[in-house]
Amino acid sequence: MTQGGAAAPLIDPFQRRISYLRVSVTDRCDFRCVYCMAEEMQFLPKAEILTYDELDRLCSAFIRLGVRKLRLTGGEPLVRRDIMGLIGSLGRHLTAGGLDELTLTTNGSQLARHAEGLAAAGVRRLNVSLDSLDAGRFAAITRRGKLDVVLDGIRAAAAAGLKIKLNVVALRGVNDDEFVAMIEWAHHAGHEVTFIETMPLGDIDGDRTDQYLPLSLVKAALGRRFTLEDSDHRTGGPARYYRVAETGGRIGFITPLTHNFCESCNRVRLTCTGTLYLCLGQDDSYDFRDLLRAGVDDQTLEAAIREAMTRKPKGHDFVIDRRHDRPAVARHMSVTGG
Ligand code: SAM
Ligand code: SF4
Repeated sequence: MTQGGAAAPLIDPFQRRISYLRVSVTDRCDFRCVYCMAEEMQFLPKAEILTYDELDRLCSAFIRLGVRKLRLTGGEPLVRRDIMGLIGSLGRHLTAGGLDELTLTTNGSQLARHAEGLAAAGVRRLNVSLDSLDAGRFAAITRRGKLDVVLDGIRAAAAAGLKIKLNVVALRGVNDDEFVAMIEWAHHAGHEVTFIETMPLGDIDGDRTDQYLPLSLVKAALGRRFTLEDSDHRTGGPARYYRVAETGGRIGFITPLTHNFCESCNRVRLTCTGTLYLCLGQDDSYDFRDLLRAGVDDQTLEAAIREAMTRKPKGHDFVIDRRHDRPAVARHMSVTGG
């Protein structure tokens, strides 16, 4: 509850301070990446999705309770109609000092037309997913994406002054021969690169054990080609960073499966239907949609957010191997948001 204008921070039962909210603004996407979605997806009816007013109200309540960083994701956040209205509106918290950072994870397909608007709303950095620099491969991985459109989007975002981090999902036998070239290309253009291990989220068409490539192997291979210097750069998340001496750029590795990062977890995730997931790899959740639609006041909403924090679990237990080839959690990454 707010006292004298400054609310007590959100602290979970394991004394972690929650300062980072990821919000999936839609479950829809114009791509069907092989590790993320099935070819045929059943998307949610509009009535189940929080309206922009509901999203804004909920995000603003989290910000009053000490969330300093907001990341919009999806699905593809930039395919939701009039999304720039929400982004512009949330940008007021940057100006007012309630928020340190407003950012997005995007597949880049709509970036060319939105780059200027994002910069104007106060967005300074973007994560853009890019798994290959080969047009044919890119089309095969995303099933629908066009590489040149995404590259145009990345150029437009850079021209608008946005810092770009490329998210590359490491896929065995699919893009693992490209990582050196991708790092050289990205660092030359001034972008960081983060490699991600595939996570067992939701049913896809196919077997995840075929795609899974431990980043320990990727790092070892890159270490034979580059000089990787330890970097003390930290984000409170699962990424570990290195400086590449030859390029002067930074690379990161997100290894939720092979490392335990849970003790420093500072984040929670809100789906587009108003369900708050307290951990990416567990099912503990709290529903805000009914509460919002019941017309509760801000005090009740804030009390509910505090109550939700008490459900944050200590950590996750993802496993991908031959004996555990079912998803650890049934929902797709496009539902929870990456
Ligand atoms: N559509 C946007 C995009 O692709 O950047 C935002 C949503 S997407 C779900 C967020 C991130 O999650 C992307 O970088 C994507 O590569 C990653 N991702 C999706 N499914 C994944 C999985 N099963 N394992 C690991 N990363 C995954
Ligand atoms: Fe869409 Fe992103 Fe999932 Fe690819 S990873 S299908 S772009 S939500």
